[in-house]
Amino acid sequence: MQLAAHQTPYPGEAESPIGESSFGLFDEMSLRGHEQVVHFCDESVGLRAIVAIHSTVLGPALGGTRMWPYESETEALKDVLRLARGMTYKAAVTGLNLGGGKAVIIGDPKKDKSEALFRTFGRFVESLGGRYITAEDVGINVDDMEYVRMETRHVTGLSRAIGGSGDPSPITALGVFHGIRACVNERFGSESLAGRRVTVQGLGHVGTALVELLAAENAEILVTDLDMDWTEQVAQQYGAKAIAPDQIFQFEGDIFSPSALGGVINDKSLQHFGYQIVAGSANNQLEDEVRHGERLKELGILYAPDYVINAGGLINVWNEIQGYNAQKVQKEVGHIYDTLKQIFQIAKQENVPTNLASNRLAERRITQLSKLSQIHIPTRA
Ligand code: NAD
Repeated sequence: MQLAAHQTPYPGEAESPIGESSFGLFDEMSLRGHEQVVHFCDESVGLRAIVAIHSTVLGPALGGTRMWPYESETEALKDVLRLARGMTYKAAVTGLNLGGGKAVIIGDPKKDKSEALFRTFGRFVESLGGRYITAEDVGINVDDMEYVRMETRHVTGLSRAIGGSGDPSPITALGVFHGIRACVNERFGSESLAGRRVTVQGLGHVGTALVELLAAENAEILVTDLDMDWTEQVAQQYGAKAIAPDQIFQFEGDIFSPSALGGVINDKSLQHFGYQIVAGSANNQLEDEVRHGERLKELGILYAPDYVINAGGLINVWNEIQGYNAQKVQKEVGHIYDTLKQIFQIAKQENVPTNLASNRLAERRITQLSKLSQIHIPTRA
């Protein structure tokens, strides 16, 4: 991996700089510095999958498998390359000894699943010899992973019933909670959340667990979800105020915590943005990584880069691989606070948006640690 030569500044950027017409696999791979991309196909079971290994400099490439009815293989390839690269940055900035990878299965998760398909996929993953470790992602569930696991050891994020660590969402929420504390400390000089107004968008697995943690700290909480009955229920349980999803930017507050879908920080939402901090679990919060990162900086809004603050799930599965210890996981998740403070420091010193500062921190760690193998240890290869 040659970051200096190939790096583009934003790992999660939506658009490929190579147009559809000129799209070439090797161009795209070298531009983004991917180590290995493998196309797996077994028509007898209807499997078409791509595994992208972006980097194994820090360790085996870990990233979930996504099943999606991509319109073309080109679309699937672009997605897997982008996602794999994002995983490299996430693992690196979190301080894990993991590289970045991702897999996509081209197919409709509602129609195209079968035991044979997932077991075949598992065998292909096994054939990579541990260079890539898979997990669940969009379109894949626990039952699918059980089939994958029958054929490969290189799988994590499993349910408790089959010896895994179970749903990572409460740990992700804990990481977001520590991240919010770091942001509040950075902005207001004290990390107390008492009386701070936090709006949580999305009351799913992560959002609801986060509301519970915030309520325990006496924050003033506003909540919203597409399901208004559920929103009312959560509001009542935790003494929060329920608001309709489309009203979210009519309110003002200290912290906006996106815990639903991506792209929520965009031209429209930033027109009258009434929050001082953006810190939540959702992936790809910035619709345009470059432009909206810079705009947040211009507006003086403190942004906790999404892949840093939501790394609790990754920390959880990493620990599952090593032998799960709940206390150790909690301690490691607490480091999200320190990582964010370090990123805010870099952003100030180098006068760049926090999301770019975070990329730089990740790249520096990879570059520094890539030199480790220069020191020869006789017993190791
Ligand atoms: P989830 O599917 O359990 O919950 C998402 C919730 O958001 C749902 O209740 C949905 O109704 C709601 N929602 C969707 N659009 C909305 C809108 N416009 N306004 C208000 N609510 C809306 O998902 P989750 O597991 O809680 O994850 C939340 C986010 O965090 C996702 O972006 C996910 O990718 C990301 N994330 C999750 C984890 C994890 O451990 N679960 C880890 C890292 C990142």
